[in-house]
Amino acid sequence: MTEHLIRNADTILTMDAGRRELVGEDILIRDGVVAAIGPNLATLGEVHEARGCVVTPGLVNTHHHLYQSLTRAVPGGQDALLFGWLKTLYPIWARFGPEDMFVSAQIGLAELALSGCTLSSDHLYLYPNGARLDDTIAAAAELGLRFHPTRGAMSIGESAGGLPPDTLVEGEAAILDDMIRVVDTFHDAGEGSMCRVGLAPCSPFSVSRDLMRDAALLARDKGVMLHTHLAENDEDIAYSLAQFGCRPGQYAEDLGWTGPDVWHAHCVKLDGAEIDLFARTRTGIAHCPCSNCRLGSGIAPVRGMRDAGVPVGLGVDGSASNDSGNLMAEARQAMLLQRVARGADAMSAREALEIATCGGADVLGRPDCGRLELGKRADIAVWDVSGIDSAGSWNPAALLLAGPTRVRHLFVEGRQIVRDGQITTIDLPRMIERQNRLARALMG
Ligand SMILES: [Zn+2]
Repeated sequence: MTEHLIRNADTILTMDAGRRELVGEDILIRDGVVAAIGPNLATLGEVHEARGCVVTPGLVNTHHHLYQSLTRAVPGGQDALLFGWLKTLYPIWARFGPEDMFVSAQIGLAELALSGCTLSSDHLYLYPNGARLDDTIAAAAELGLRFHPTRGAMSIGESAGGLPPDTLVEGEAAILDDMIRVVDTFHDAGEGSMCRVGLAPCSPFSVSRDLMRDAALLARDKGVMLHTHLAENDEDIAYSLAQFGCRPGQYAEDLGWTGPDVWHAHCVKLDGAEIDLFARTRTGIAHCPCSNCRLGSGIAPVRGMRDAGVPVGLGVDGSASNDSGNLMAEARQAMLLQRVARGADAMSAREALEIATCGGADVLGRPDCGRLELGKRADIAVWDVSGIDSAGSWNPAALLLAGPTRVRHLFVEGRQIVRDGQITTIDLPRMIERQNRLARALMG
């Protein structure tokens, strides 16, 4: 029996059904779950004094391309729109191999962990030179983060009218075979699962209609979730209208890509009817505000989505279009961006944090995560509000207005992954060195 006691927190933002905020209380972690919350708890395990700290559920990242942490701030892609940006990066990504996938995933996940993230999905849609989804799963397991990798895919290359070069696409039969392999090998559907696999053809502009439909059928057969990019910007809408004769929402619905087991990244350009469709079908959205700003895609109508009842989570998106992977900073950006569009009362700091915690957990089908309640998984972030980021704050629990974007402690499934701001499970300086070496090799 392993126990940790987080004691005397200034505030615990529970994100439970009543959104309770507790002052001066403790959280007892036992065997991976929250065993008790209240004042003056006792333990025979380790005690973590949390006076001067705000405690939240671990943040949930619903969209990422971890491999892209090896291609941050690439000069040719710094100022391009989505399609031009992709065309700059595809030839570089084509040189990746298994080690690039492993190291970049571990760096990307460690960066997320330091920013309070305990559960991340990943969308890996290219597999050059022997790279496999297995490489990223090994990286997450070693680091100790809860992981929802998705087996992405691209099958329509340039010669067939798609966007990616032919060297980066795979045959659709091979894609479906590998989807089956990774689900059968790695997917754990149980409560407290540390690894759940999803199926994720990259986007309507890089796979066929058949693969979209087949992936949906396979996901339902296996009981796993579906994920892709949708309605990201104006070019994306124009492509859908020109190629498919319909808007992205219709395309998704026709191919079985709506429902509580589906979540789409971006959805910047969903119209009112599409928002209603997503609300009615409980189809989830990964909102990626920094990436949307970085690529000039626009402001996703998150206020309208939330008001309609669409499940919304937060995603940092790939590190080539962010170019950061700080999930706490992303939550702040989500709050700010809605205010740009709709005014200062469009989204509160509490609501943005809710989207980043229980909102994301619900999008990923994880009601056992994203809130601090008895029996829920002990995925917990401890934020030190005694430092300069919060100095002078009248309300340190309003973390997104004034507060740190790096955690002091982080627990995943009751295991301490970050202690006093340092990753405990891997030699991070060594991994950063390795990452920089690989990036230099890719620059050729
Ligand atoms: Zn993406």
